[in-house]
Amino acid sequence: MTTIPRLRFAHLPTAIEELPRLSAHLGGPRIFVKRDDQTGLALGGNKTRKLEFLLAEAQALGAKTLVTAGAAQSNHCRQAAAAAAKYGLDCVLVLNGEAPDSASSNLLLDLLFGARIVWVADRADRERVQNQTFEALKAGGADPYFVPYGGSSPTGVLGYAFAVEEFMEQGLQAEWMVFGTSSGGTHAGLTLGKRIFGYRGKVLGISIDESEDWLKDRVSSLASDASRSFGGRIDFSRDDVLATAAYCGSGYGVLTDAEREAVGLFARFEGLLLDPVYTGRAAAGLIDMIRKGQFAKNETVLFWNTGGQPALFAEKYQSHMLSSS
Ligand SMILES: *Cc1c(COP(=O)(O)O)cnc(C)c1O
Repeated sequence: MTTIPRLRFAHLPTAIEELPRLSAHLGGPRIFVKRDDQTGLALGGNKTRKLEFLLAEAQALGAKTLVTAGAAQSNHCRQAAAAAAKYGLDCVLVLNGEAPDSASSNLLLDLLFGARIVWVADRADRERVQNQTFEALKAGGADPYFVPYGGSSPTGVLGYAFAVEEFMEQGLQAEWMVFGTSSGGTHAGLTLGKRIFGYRGKVLGISIDESEDWLKDRVSSLASDASRSFGGRIDFSRDDVLATAAYCGSGYGVLTDAEREAVGLFARFEGLLLDPVYTGRAAAGLIDMIRKGQFAKNETVLFWNTGGQPALFAEKYQSHMLSSS
């Protein structure tokens, strides 16, 4: 195996903590959390692991500008802007929405890190505008490097393949890994890492906003493409991807009582912070599956806390966080 280019700035390994009070309350399996909300880059989150590989690739290509895209409150964009600042690259973010009068949470941090924002009013236009932006930067000599949505390129995926190795070295036996999945990079990395490093449990992604069908295609093809870095392509099929889209019916970033309850339970039983968009929804799915008896009591579930806590303070969500119960 050739060595894979990687910069080292994440705080690794992230801690694993048991959640005994939550387990007891739910009458379910043992639950552990992997604290990827504490990866050390700009308030942490799962994009740090991907960016270690993406920034290395950008540097190797001699890039001077990082270009990426996302929602106005994108965690990925916040972390990409921080990584760009840290390595002396300019950063241009293509965000869908309209420039608000005042910037809060992730958007505020994007601006603090010196990112330039290009707003796209219509989500359907984002890809066109991001390509235009990229081409204009290239023509202007800014040497742009494009990071796809969520950092989920075959290069970014490597972050979560190696996260499986890290987890296995920590020695916890867990029958399940559960996490929120959206652009599919985390999911593809964990699926690839399971194969490469021989993790024997199940890797279950809880969809934040995509169909099960889309995720199976996306994750299997990303994992297959990323596998080349380990010396030979492995063909992953749709059957290698475990996903449920049972908890995303309300749409991206639309809070329901299920997310509110999940965020509240983690907070009140364990003093842990989830976020309204991703980990709150993933935890709501986990809690529902526990209540339906989908895990045996003697099993152990590892929940990846993928971060996103800045969104708790976004104007859009802060008044909707407290459940009425
Ligand atoms: C981006 C993100 C996810 C989803 O990760 P993908 O690799 O895009 O599927 C989950 N949780 C948080 C907090 C995120 O920011």
